[in-house]
Amino acid sequence: MPWHLLPENASVGDNGHLYIGGCDTVEVAQEFGTPVFIYDEDHLRARCREAVRSFGNSATYATKAFLCKAMAKLVHSEGMKLDVATGGELHVALAAGVPGPDLVMHGNNKSESELSEALAAEVGHIVVDSFEELDRIERLVAAGSPPARILLRVTPGVEAHTHEFISTGQDDSKFGFTVSTGVAAAAVARAMASDAVELVGIHAHIGSQVFRVDSFAKALEVLAGFAEPYGLEHLVIGGGLGVPYVEGEEAPSISQWGKILIQAAQDVGIKAKLGIEPGRSIAAAAAITVYTVGTVKQLEGIRTYIAVDGGMSDNPRPVLYGSGYEGFLPADPLAERTITARVVGKHCETGDLLIRDAALPASTAVGDLLATPVTGAYGHSMGSNYNKVLRPPIVFCRDGDARLVVRRETYADLLQTDLS
Ligand SMILES: *Cc1c(COP(=O)(O)O)cnc(C)c1O
Repeated sequence: MPWHLLPENASVGDNGHLYIGGCDTVEVAQEFGTPVFIYDEDHLRARCREAVRSFGNSATYATKAFLCKAMAKLVHSEGMKLDVATGGELHVALAAGVPGPDLVMHGNNKSESELSEALAAEVGHIVVDSFEELDRIERLVAAGSPPARILLRVTPGVEAHTHEFISTGQDDSKFGFTVSTGVAAAAVARAMASDAVELVGIHAHIGSQVFRVDSFAKALEVLAGFAEPYGLEHLVIGGGLGVPYVEGEEAPSISQWGKILIQAAQDVGIKAKLGIEPGRSIAAAAAITVYTVGTVKQLEGIRTYIAVDGGMSDNPRPVLYGSGYEGFLPADPLAERTITARVVGKHCETGDLLIRDAALPASTAVGDLLATPVTGAYGHSMGSNYNKVLRPPIVFCRDGDARLVVRRETYADLLQTDLS
């Protein structure tokens, strides 16, 4: 098992088990059941500190990667702001006690009520994505809302070289105002002329799971040409730093990424305060998901299927993007992985797979705990109740203490919204 894919505070105990944050992951799985998300709390904190060291209070965590009240509190206590992209994310961040001014409101189709909630919470910035949104804000301010401090989201027309579904900086995109056609300049003119908004900066986000840092440098070059003449206070380059998920992948650290961005911004003469919005690179490698093996089906001459007690409802990334993962046994993380098997979930479709060709120990058997690393981002947050499967709990581990921060759903939760 490639060790660098595990959380920072992972170790092997005297009993041979994987420990995270000083907690025996086998015991955590026994105590809270499976599937379970086990987070290394200090890993999350260390990533936040890296971002804050490079960008101060312009370091903003993209909550869509992973959000619950404990996470919102943790990120805020480390000095980051929080980016929320819907009324729901705004609601959770506020419920966690994060003050409105430390929030940034995103979204390509914010409703009037979402904007109204954001204005009422006095969020630090609203990142405006369309002319319709400017209309909505003007109506709300005319009706008595306080004026909004806004950034305009623009598409710089660069390819992020990542999966099509998470590329957002190219001209052919639903997001933002296009720079190359002059629409972005028209949006700036409109915002500057409006009494309802105070334009304080420009925003771009080129995509997610981006390994090629030159894509960010290219975006900064376009943004320097576009935004600098306006002399605005802020320039936010979004998130998107990739993380390794499988053996052989490598990515820069947040600190290295920060250094590259700051240098690239300097090189093209950007004087505005540079901001970032990392999500995945904060949370992904902080967690593993632990499942229990329920069936092993050997098909002679075809393959072996190993079914676990979760699947696309706790990790839809393999189905959505064809993403790869590694697998290992938390009871023996150092075991040699000599067999290949397909790790699948318990949902009623063939597409419900977690690892297409998993290298696993030959001993892997029914009843074993089986874990996938790097599931801290876009796992729980993208999860569903498909097949009425209950969403797993979240456990934060630190200094040998395992803290349940989100409990497992119950059958009663499944009926909470069901009225008849
Ligand atoms: C998704 C998103 C992010 C975070 O992206 P990561 O790849 O998770 O770092 C940041 N900003 C915006 C606007 C986003 O949509």
